[in-house]
Amino acid sequence: MKEIRFHNSLSGNKEVFRPEFPDRVRVYSCGPTVYNFAHLGNLRAFLFVDLLRRVLVAFGYKPDMTMNITDIDDKIIRESMAQGKNIREFTEPWVKAFQEDLESLNIQKLEHYPRATDSIPSMIEIIKHLQSHGLVYEKDGSLYYSISKFKNYGKLSGIDVSGMKTGTRYDTDEYDKDDVRDFVLWKFPKQEGEPSWDTEIGPGRPGWHLECSAMVRDVYGSGVDIHTGGVDLTFPHHENEIAQSEGAFPEESFVKYWLHSEHLLVNGEKMAKSKGNFFTLRDLVKDGIEPRNIRFLLLSAHYRSKLNFTKERLEEAAGSVSKIQNCINRLLEELSKSGKTFQSKTNVELTAWDEFLESLADDLNISKFLASVFELVKDSNQYLDQNSPNEDEIVKRLELFYKIDSILGVLSFERKVEVLDSEIDELVRQRQEARKNKNFAEADRLRDKLNEIGIILEDTKEGLRWKRK
Ligand code: AMP
Ligand code: ZN
Repeated sequence: MKEIRFHNSLSGNKEVFRPEFPDRVRVYSCGPTVYNFAHLGNLRAFLFVDLLRRVLVAFGYKPDMTMNITDIDDKIIRESMAQGKNIREFTEPWVKAFQEDLESLNIQKLEHYPRATDSIPSMIEIIKHLQSHGLVYEKDGSLYYSISKFKNYGKLSGIDVSGMKTGTRYDTDEYDKDDVRDFVLWKFPKQEGEPSWDTEIGPGRPGWHLECSAMVRDVYGSGVDIHTGGVDLTFPHHENEIAQSEGAFPEESFVKYWLHSEHLLVNGEKMAKSKGNFFTLRDLVKDGIEPRNIRFLLLSAHYRSKLNFTKERLEEAAGSVSKIQNCINRLLEELSKSGKTFQSKTNVELTAWDEFLESLADDLNISKFLASVFELVKDSNQYLDQNSPNEDEIVKRLELFYKIDSILGVLSFERKVEVLDSEIDELVRQRQEARKNKNFAEADRLRDKLNEIGIILEDTKEGLRWKRK
């Protein structure tokens, strides 16, 4: 198996990836907080997870991946109470919207999508272990993590804990960056109607950080090979996850490789709900933008580089996708001349593919990968411009593009046949004629043919009409 190197935020270096079990690579990614539509920034983080998955598969690993759904936090409680709904009723449509967005962007399904509110027993277990190690204190019914008692606090983010005043606390799920304080593990109910669980550690609800530590445990029993999230989660969220999981179970390994993806910006500022500078996928689709072009744009920058979102960039991405697609269309067209259609054979060995893998092996160097893709496009176009392209060569190139698309997920390998309206009118007329003559076999054949080229027939009061799918 070829080696991959990932930048591990824990060491600050690129490290050779060695999962505990290659046939079960455990990856946990912080997912959405479901109180609204995801914005393109969130989707960039989720697309990074998709890229990671596709690359792991391309290198022969078998991934076992999780993205959690945060279905309880201050915002969700505030909004659901305002609408008089319980947490499930309120979050359900947003979970669905999240899944639809992933589908539109051709993001592959992961093995697990746990919800925080399904992991309460594991949260209680973690708190009890933390208590047994003297890491928890109580204040007004809520339980807090005493970070000064955890010797490795700060090892991921490099945050300086020395200036911290012992006993200063955070109660909310929203934090000031770089402000080091004890964080809440379990929140005592403060207002009437607030969601609360009656547990052996008292009534209340979980703090945000505890959720992820618990879901990792629920899915994997102990820790994972890779943990991902946006860079904004490094501190305090991931630092606190480490404090919880390693503080509660010091004998276990929690996370071996931490991978953080950079932000999507708008005019140089992080795209964020709170700033109002965001776009949702639906906003753009409504404007006629194809999701595959958005996918390409968000994937085309290296995951550890910031990416500034502009409409011009989106147009450039659309241009790039059609440039690759046009080349594939030409190859498909050429193949059809010898009466063949393209059907990828899985597991074909292609030496040229090694160069592409090489780029990805270097901490998912997508820019280098894409540079090779455009080299291949250029070279293939030149090849096709020659007089007599060779069938085997055409198929080989198509296979290579097919492998490329196992990573990019934006291309089509079906030959598009341009059919003129007048030709369709003629086929429809022939079909009507066949029906009139009770030649049903012929009528069915013509219907199938129309269907094949993407034409739907509709019986209306004004007679038979056709439209394109
Ligand atoms: P949230 O739904 O706010 O909990 O965020 C879900 C994921 O999106 C997290 O991994 C965040 O780090 C990530 N995220 C939020 N804003 C951005 C952004 N502007 N660019 C990239 N990732 C983001
Ligand atoms: Zn998390």
